[in-house]
Amino acid sequence: MPYTAPLNDLRFLLDHVVGFDAVQATDRFAETTPDVTEAILTEAAKLCEGELAPLQRAGDLHPARLENGVVRTSPGFAEGYRAIAAGGWVGMSADPAYGGMGLPMALATCMNEMMSSACLSLQIAPMMTQGQIEALEAHASDALKALYLPRLTSGDWVGTMNLTEPQAGSDVGALTTKAVPKGDGTYAITGQKIYISWGDNDFTGNVCHLVLARLPDGAPGTKGISLFLVPRHLPDATGNPGVANALKVVSLEHKLGLHGSPTAVMQYEGATGWLVGPEHGGMRAMFTMMNNARLGVGVQGIGVAEAAYQHALAHARDRKQGQTPVADADSILAHADVRRMVMTMRAEVFAARAIALSTAVATDMHHATGAESWAARAALLTPICKAYGTDTGIRVADLGLQVHGGMGVIEETGAAQYLRDVRVTAIYEGTNGIQAMDLVGRKLADGGEAMSRLLDEIEALAESARGSLPDVAEPVWQACETLRETTEALVAETRLNARFGGAQPYLMAAARVLGGHAHLAAAIAEGGRGPRSALARFFVGRLLPEHGALAAQALAGDKDLYALDPEDLVA
Ligand SMILES: Cc1cc2nc3c(=O)[nH]c(=O)nc-3n(C[C@H](O)[C@H](O)[C@H](O)COP(=O)(O)OP(=O)(O)OC[C@H]3O[C@@H](n4cnc5c(N)ncnc54)[C@H](O)[C@@H]3O)c2cc1C
Repeated sequence: MPYTAPLNDLRFLLDHVVGFDAVQATDRFAETTPDVTEAILTEAAKLCEGELAPLQRAGDLHPARLENGVVRTSPGFAEGYRAIAAGGWVGMSADPAYGGMGLPMALATCMNEMMSSACLSLQIAPMMTQGQIEALEAHASDALKALYLPRLTSGDWVGTMNLTEPQAGSDVGALTTKAVPKGDGTYAITGQKIYISWGDNDFTGNVCHLVLARLPDGAPGTKGISLFLVPRHLPDATGNPGVANALKVVSLEHKLGLHGSPTAVMQYEGATGWLVGPEHGGMRAMFTMMNNARLGVGVQGIGVAEAAYQHALAHARDRKQGQTPVADADSILAHADVRRMVMTMRAEVFAARAIALSTAVATDMHHATGAESWAARAALLTPICKAYGTDTGIRVADLGLQVHGGMGVIEETGAAQYLRDVRVTAIYEGTNGIQAMDLVGRKLADGGEAMSRLLDEIEALAESARGSLPDVAEPVWQACETLRETTEALVAETRLNARFGGAQPYLMAAARVLGGHAHLAAAIAEGGRGPRSALARFFVGRLLPEHGALAAQALAGDKDLYALDPEDLVA
């Protein structure tokens, strides 16, 4: 489907809102000059607009399928993937020592968003591989790194992540896949994994599965889990794919959307695997990949939202219905309610994109400086980025469908595909409910210090603009104070389940405040006049006020949630 990469918005956010200049000023990323950044964005846009966007419908109409145990991918996907790999995009932020470009995560995030807009179901393959590369860089032995990283970085091989089992979804600790030492430094992996994205394909030389499994002496729960690299084909002495490993794709799921992405049930039957990280230290190692993927999945939501927005806007500018209140304007875009939808879409995408890029910048700053405060910032923002980014994808795709009227539910228009494709992003990579619990649990376990530091920065910006932009700055400052009080009350709540009862609204309240901050920064950069300032006023006037109701819900505890017995719910 037609797609135009939002380069102006991406450039503006990098230059004026998320502090990318600090990343460029570090020694580690000194080569990412403004010229290099521009060249990367332009080339990425060209690939996504020209080669990937045309694949979007093909993936939907011709899903990946399993033929005699072999996965056949959607028409054009092999060529699309090869174009991604040939451009070096899989290894954009990977270590140059293994062939990567060593670019900041902030730029990889821009590219991942554009690929998600263009063709979400294909984008998952390079995104998973990027996460696997990061996990291997951080935790694998030198021998594994030397063998696998160059091939993954080049995109010749792809990576998957294997956590989920029928009885172990959100509760990863319930997994039963076994790993038995074979005495030669390798392990025999046996068990079933379900819902494995891109579990196999017909266009890469190998598929490398990162599999969570339990050793015979592994304790129950997450503490006893180890991580293994299990390739589809065992590398021979020269490092090329050799004999087939003892694993297979049992079936592919028939899904609501994302038809082009093969979602596999995988069976491991004593497959040979190599330990990544220490024995029983699998969750820590896998978290490297999961944190990368949580940012990546949030960005998937934003990418789909951007594409759905463009699509809906084009329809709204073209479709004529009734008399409009605006002179010389006869399309539905002139109707107030359609404007409300379109403005909401644009304002939400801007806010979610700013949060995602801020998360990436914090990750880059941590990598470049080693400062723990940046690690804490990235950790704090990651669940917000994942949940709000994907909720934005769903909300905006839904509004996009509504803008289309009846045409929205007619598949040929493509509006429905965005909604079907993006829906699962709120579920996989840790459901959005689990993200919210992570935010009020683990991420406030520092007594709210990381959140407090972030709120200090937001208030300082709002203070500085109180004189010049009072209509935007004042509400942002007020909302920030409300969030600070809410955070303090949650931190003081000693019953974790009471915090969990308010976790989702707390996360959304935080996203509203962060969104207000990003829009305020944009308005300041524009001098308070122009389209970005108008959008900021829209966000502050219509969407930011939601934070108050959300904060009230965040403090509602859990008692009312259990007020009805299960029998009462049935009755
Ligand atoms: C298309 C697709 C692709 C996927 N790709 C992969 C992949 O590549 N690799 C992989 O390993 N997995 C993958 N998954 C699995 C995905 O990560 C899980 O579906 C997800 O983690 C949720 O697990 P579940 O489906 O078992 O739901 P459940 O865990 O059964 O959750 C059901 C509901 O209960 C809630 N819930 C569960 N536990 C709690 C709790 N403790 N507190 C509060 N609420 C709770 C959840 O939020 C959810 O709303 C994929 C799934 C899909 C659908």
